Amino acid sequence: MLEKIKKQFWMIDALLKTDFTTKKQLVTNFLTAKKKYIPKEKRDANIDSLLKCALCPNMCRFDCPVSMAEKSESSSPAGKMKIAYFLETGKIQPSESAIDLMYKDVNCDACKQWCPFGFSIGELLIGVRNDLVKAFLLLKELNKVFMDIDNALGGLSERERDKRAESDNSPDI
Ligand code: SF4
Repeated sequence: MLEKIKKQFWMIDALLKTDFTTKKQLVTNFLTAKKKYIPKEKRDANIDSLLKCALCPNMCRFDCPVSMAEKSESSSPAGKMKIAYFLETGKIQPSESAIDLMYKDVNCDACKQWCPFGFSIGELLIGVRNDLVKAFLLLKELNKVFMDIDNALGGLSERERDKRAESDNSPDI
C-alpha cells in the first residue's frame, strides 16, 4: 500500500506547482469526472481502472511482449485498455478485430512492475471478456463452440439468436 502511495507522489508535487485557477479546474474535474466517464450500469469490467490505464502515457509498452511482436499501438497495454473502454461504453462498434484484441494478452504482468496503480492487464481483461460474452460478443471461433453447446442443450431463444447474428455481422474497426 505504502509503495502504491509513494508512486503517486509526483502528482501531488505537480499539483502544488500549478496556479490557483488550474488547481481549481483540476479538483473540479477530479470530483465530477466519474459521473461523466463511468457508466452507471453494473459491469464485470472495472471501468475506472480501464480509464486510468487508457489515459496513462503507456511507457510500460516497451516491456510488453505482445506489443513488441505485433508492433501496433492498439495491442500495447494502454492501447488495449482504450479499446476496452470504448467497447464497454459503446463508443466503437464491437468489431471482430476489437474483440480479438481483448484476447491478445499473455498475462505475463511485465507491464505491472511499471504501473503507478499496480494494474494487471490480464486481470482487467477478464472483466471485459465477461461483459463481451454476456453481450454475445465472442471470438468467431468461440461463437461456433457456444452455438454448438447451446444447440445441444435445446437451442437459443430468438432474442439471443438475433444478438449473436448481429455480433457476427459487425464491421471491423
Ligand atoms: S500482461 Fe499483457 S499487456 Fe502486460 S506486458 Fe504482459 S502481455 Fe503485455
